[in-house]
This record gives sequence, C-alpha cells and structure tokens, in this order.
Amino acid sequence: MPPERRDPTQGTPFEAVIGLEVHVQLKTRTKMFCGCENRFGAEPNTLTCPVCLGQPGSLPTINRAAIEHAVRVGLACGCDIARSTKFDRKNYYYPDLPKNYQISQYDQPLCDGGGLDVAVGSERKRIGLTRIHLEEDAGKNIHAEGLPESWVDLNRAGVPLLEIVSRPDMRTPTEAGAYLRMLRLVMLYLDVSDCNMEEGSLRCDVNVSIRPRGSGVLETRTEIKNLNSFTNIENAIEHEIERQIALRAAGKEVVQETLHFDPVRGETKTLRGKEEAHDYRYFPEPDLAPLHIDEKWLESLRGTLPELPIARYERFQSLGIQPYHADVLVRDKDLADFFEEGVKICSKPQEIANWVVNAVKEETNARGVSAARIGISPARLVSLVEAIEGGKVSKQKARDVFRSMLGNEDAVDAVIASLGLGQVSDDAFLRAAVAEVIAENPAAADDVRKGKKNSVNFLMGQVMRKTKGQANPGMVTKLIQEQLGG
Ligand code: ZN
Ligand code: MN
Repeated sequence: MPPERRDPTQGTPFEAVIGLEVHVQLKTRTKMFCGCENRFGAEPNTLTCPVCLGQPGSLPTINRAAIEHAVRVGLACGCDIARSTKFDRKNYYYPDLPKNYQISQYDQPLCDGGGLDVAVGSERKRIGLTRIHLEEDAGKNIHAEGLPESWVDLNRAGVPLLEIVSRPDMRTPTEAGAYLRMLRLVMLYLDVSDCNMEEGSLRCDVNVSIRPRGSGVLETRTEIKNLNSFTNIENAIEHEIERQIALRAAGKEVVQETLHFDPVRGETKTLRGKEEAHDYRYFPEPDLAPLHIDEKWLESLRGTLPELPIARYERFQSLGIQPYHADVLVRDKDLADFFEEGVKICSKPQEIANWVVNAVKEETNARGVSAARIGISPARLVSLVEAIEGGKVSKQKARDVFRSMLGNEDAVDAVIASLGLGQVSDDAFLRAAVAEVIAENPAAADDVRKGKKNSVNFLMGQVMRKTKGQANPGMVTKLIQEQLGG
C-alpha cells in the first residue's frame, strides 16, 4: 500500500475536488488506423505511412484489436459498452499532428459510466468513471538541448490511445494516487498496455478545484498537464490545492487555466487558458463508418476477462494469507502468479507467501527480472518450505539454502547436505546427546528439576555445541524436559 500523504485541506474550511484524465497507449501490433508497427524506441520516422502522415487521399481503417482491448477495459470497470459508436475529428494545429486533427470520440464514447474500487488506507472507496473512449496518439516534438531547432518524430502518430476520464470523486492526493495505481494495475492484469510512465505509455492530467467543505457545488478548476510519475502527480495536486486555498484566503478568484507542474521547483506555471470542447469544432469522421458491437462479440470478450486485482486480493486472504502479504503479492502480477504455482502443490500458503514476499521479491528487485526468471521454480521453493517444516533445516539457515538453490536444479536435500546445514532430528542420536550433557552438568540439571527456566536454555546451548549447531532445537527442549521433568 502506498504511504498515506498529508491532506492539505486539513485545518481549513475547504475540501478539494479532484478528477483524473488518464491516457493509456494500447499494446497492439499495429497502429489505430493504419498498418504501421506500434513500437516504442524505433529510429525516428521509420514507422510511418501515408495514413498516419496525413497525406491526401489516404484512408483510415479501424484496428479490431484496439477495440477489443478498450471493450475489455470497459467491462472490467463496469462501464456500459456502446453497441453503436462512431469516431470524430478533433481539430487543432500542432507540429506533431500532421493531419491537423486527431481522430477521437466526441459524443458517443465506447464506454460510459462505471468505476473502480480503490483501497485508501484500510478503507475501500469507489471512484466513478465518466467515460472511456478511443483515439489516436500524436507524434512527438523533440526540443534538443542547446540547439535552436526542434524535431518531430511521427512514429507515435496514430498509436491507439485509451482516454479514461474519472468523475471528480477524489478528495486528497492520497486518494488520487491510490486510484491511479489501481487503474494501472487493472490495465496490467488485462494485459492491454505496458503502462510505463517513463516511456509515456501512461500519462495523466489532473483537474483540481476547492470548495467550502460539504458544499456540493463544482467550482472553477485548473488542469495540470503532462505529469510523469506517481510522486509528481501527488506533489502537483498537493501544491495546487495549497495554491488555491491561499488565493481564496486572500480574497482572490481561481482562474480556469491549464498549468504545467515543475517538479524541481515544486510549483505550477500557466501554460494556456483552458479550451472548451466547442473550440475543437468536433464533427463525425467522414472516412470511417459507424462501429457496431454485437452481443456475441461482447460476450466473447467478457469471457476473456482475468480475475481482477481486488478479487485476487480477497481470494488470497480467504486462503489464510495476511493482508500485508496479499497486498504485496497482488501489486506485482508476476510475483502473485509465482505464489499461485507454489500454493497449488503446498498446504502452507502463508509460509509460501512469506518466502515469495521476502526472499523471492528481494531477488527480483536486485536483478530487475520477473519472479519467473530468478532461477528457482515455485516447486523447488515449495521443497525448501517442506524441508523447514520437516525439521531438515532451521529457519535461520534456510536463507543460505535458498541462495544456493538459485540458478541450478539441485534438490533441496543435496543443497542442505553440501552446505553442511542439515538439522539433526534423529531421535536416538539427540536423546544420547541430551543424556551426555545432563551427566556432564549435574548442577544445571538439578536447577531444571527445581523448575529454573534459564538452566534449560543453558543445557540446550551445551547440546547445540556438542552437535555443532545442527540439533533440532524444538526436539532438544522436549527431550530435556522429558528427561528432567519440569
Ligand atoms: Zn501508418
Ligand atoms: Mn485525449
């Protein structure tokens, strides 16, 4: 769970009203309206064609896979999916937009309504959605440092883009962060996007206003654009709420405008006056026929929905997993999948969860690879957990065994033996060792008979020394008490 942040409205008569507009690049083989490859990081302007360059006479076609991804997101968020929809032209000029318009959706979005259940601290809050629609991405302007000119890369022009607009249901930076993280997780579970903020496949704009606590009216809002990390988003919201409270306290009005957040200086700057929908002169895209989604298609897509994060979190808890461990697992799909493989063949889910959340996760973090690639299969991890349960190795030494099992196929017993870490649970052997220690330490043995707890520990230490630390401590305690009473 992300750390809870301070609420900047605390101690003021105001509450904040926050809405998020999220753009997600969809993971498809080709672009939204042409056959060009949809791929990040290629040589500039190598993934283009007459359609995405906006050349005269070229005609767009709709990418079926992008529609399917969008519908699946809509279904996962409980939206109404339009059976009949269309695309529209959103007109504006920008150097990275060769057609001078973006194909988007105006008054008939593909998905309507819905919402997302979000965990905020220990509470659950539902954040409503206004709409989800499909559009195409623009190209990218590159302003090289120290050079007077700017360059344009159109590889990104026409990449399928999902715009997810929330209702203004969030009240604090913490809630906004929690919503965005959950939205990202749902996209990752659906496997429709990489959601990589650094590469720009998930981008977020924020709308912020304040109002007297409990007033229910929507007041003038500002929009903060182009935020590129969770922390920046939370910081920007916090800063903007504070700025608006200070304005109101000074008797001034909040002006509707678009702002840019400077994460280094921690302040917002005016980018431009806010434009309204009518400024864009939307009209139906004349080169694309309306799109119809029939029931059969819709139902087949519904059938492809995976178990979603919240449901998985609850199922893990019903297996007896502690909330903390369930949360860490669910937030990393690969880690959770690894855990599930182990649980299938082991009756100790919480023990497996401990190992995955600690040892396995540490390894994936250190090496920057997924759990499936750290060099130990779930089955071999289970064999280690069973060796601990069976008293073959102590919990303390098991971490060394784990490390030695990485990157090979050696059986756990062989690894324990080769490290000399075997824990001796042989009854006859331990019984003899305990008897010897009692004979050698008659005073301590007497103390135990009189009920002195400390002396049990002393005798235990002697047995450990005699067996070079390999005696099963649980069994030794039992045998001492058995032989001396108390
Ligand atoms: Zn193209
Ligand atoms: Mn958009």
